Formats: sequence, structure tokens, C-alpha cells
Amino acid sequence: MNIRPHHILCIQKFTGHGYNEEFTDHMKAVVSKLKSKPETYITVREGCDDLCKMCPNREDEACTSFEKVKAMDNAVLRVCGITYEDTVSWEKLAHRARKQIFETDAFQRICADCQWAELCRNTEV
Ligand code: SF4
Ligand code: SF4
Repeated sequence: MNIRPHHILCIQKFTGHGYNEEFTDHMKAVVSKLKSKPETYITVREGCDDLCKMCPNREDEACTSFEKVKAMDNAVLRVCGITYEDTVSWEKLAHRARKQIFETDAFQRICADCQWAELCRNTEV
């Protein structure tokens, strides 16, 4: 599975909200697969990934919020000590993000400009 860095956070904080029904149904399927098979290997992808492909905000293989999501992606890479094209099990990636981001003030910083920030702050993982 190909996942861009900041989606390592979004997958863990997902509570069923999304941009439209198609996107949300696809996200639910991904979240459910990773919960039941945490050993799934993830390749950390630059640009659009397996979640973006069903998103209404994707245009010509790029996110319409390019600058904002790129900044979040870069911050997740830096804080978690991972690089593009790393292939790591979902459980290891998720654990690292929990320790390095959700349990530190990095979470507030990285997600500050996201429309779902308040919802995610109030969602336990
Ligand atoms: S606040 Fe936004 S970027 Fe951060 S985990 Fe939630 S949905 Fe993802
Ligand atoms: S296209 Fe942009 S808004 Fe849509 S899921 Fe991907 S990064 Fe998020």
C-alpha cells in the first residue's frame, strides 16, 4: 500500500468523516484493512497515494492544497525519521507516529491548519 506521510496520522484519527461519500467509504476500507492486518507493508509515497486517488481535491495527480499538505508531509518525515520510499509495516509506522507526534506537541504544530484539527485533537488513538 502507498501512503503519503501525513496520512499516517489521518488513518489513525479517522472517525468516519471525509470529503464525500466515495472518499469516506474508501478510507473506511483502508482503515479497516490496516486494523485487521497491521503487519501490512506501507511504502511512504511522495505526492498522491492510495487515499488521494478517491479524493475530490485531487487534480491531475496532485492535491489542490499542494503547499499545505506538502508542509505536513515534510514535518511527519522529519519528526518520525522516515524518508520517501521507505517500506515499513503499518504497525511500526503507526507506533512511531503515536510516540513522536500524538504524544508530543508536534501534533498541534503539524495539524494546526487542517480543517479536521479539532475533531482529531478530540479523538483518542
Ligand atoms: S488534523 Fe488533519 S492532517 Fe491531522 S490527523 Fe487529522 S485529518 Fe489528518
Ligand atoms: S488529494 Fe489532498 S486533500 Fe485529498 S486525500 Fe490527498 S492530500 Fe488529502
